[in-house]
Amino acid sequence: MCEFCHKHGEGKKWYLQAQNYSEDLLSDLRRRKFIQDFFLHPEKLNEDLEKVERFRRTPSFVRGVLTPFLVNRQKKVHWGQVVPIEDVERILGFVSSVVRMACLCRQATVGSEQRYCYGVSMVPQEKSQFRQLLEGIDVAYLTGPNTAGLETLSKEQALANFRELEKKGLCHTVWIFNAPFIGGICNCDRSDCGAMRSTITAGFPMMFRAEYVAGVNPDLCNGCRQCMRVCQFGAMGYSIAHEKVVIDPRRCYGCGICRASCTKNAIALNERSAIPLAAGVW
Ligand code: SF4
Ligand code: SF4
Repeated sequence: MCEFCHKHGEGKKWYLQAQNYSEDLLSDLRRRKFIQDFFLHPEKLNEDLEKVERFRRTPSFVRGVLTPFLVNRQKKVHWGQVVPIEDVERILGFVSSVVRMACLCRQATVGSEQRYCYGVSMVPQEKSQFRQLLEGIDVAYLTGPNTAGLETLSKEQALANFRELEKKGLCHTVWIFNAPFIGGICNCDRSDCGAMRSTITAGFPMMFRAEYVAGVNPDLCNGCRQCMRVCQFGAMGYSIAHEKVVIDPRRCYGCGICRASCTKNAIALNERSAIPLAAGVW
């Protein structure tokens, strides 16, 4: 279990606890202000990425001193965790409504609308404070006339979309907006998602790995290497001697994207805590 499970989930998977999506948490004025500012300024994301890049070039001893402090601060305001599709399905099982919206990251990094983000709420959509808050934020890319605005989806539609996005190679992640409130589920990739870029490319973490690690069944794997093409995290290798794919559990984020691409059902996710090399690696 990651540290959020202990802090915000009483030792269980924190993102499966309904109270972390509650409207009560959203009543907090500081949190509401944080969410409004977050969506009002997509350009700030690029500035933050430039800062991370500058930080990456500072001397290692300076980074060593500052990183724990900065990461700790990040964990309080905007932090994510990779979640596989079965846990997305569990979340959709207990929330009351789902709204799809344009992704802030893609707006900032590629300058176009990609509807990869899903706001989830514990009350019916029309009464949701989250929806009202988002609709009250005056930014064209989110609610303006040239977009589809905030689309209400059924849980079945949302789950089908997540499965499609997974087939495209996008990795599901849950996100806090001032801990422990979880505001949504996103679909990330390392080239266009700011948080994943920061975590993987720039070395400044903004998310935990999943509570799982993938493993390959060598009896089922035919060595086609399709799965290697979709792993965003460089966790897969190919054994020429065995003509099979292998997964490094120390690098695996447990997203399950490789599993979705395997037509031989050769990949399974296992609890991270049960894999000695990966337990405690977040
Ligand atoms: S996609 Fe499946 S069968 Fe192909 S290499 Fe990967 S694990 Fe093996
Ligand atoms: S090997 Fe791990 S990190 Fe890579 S796609 Fe599979 S589950 Fe995700």
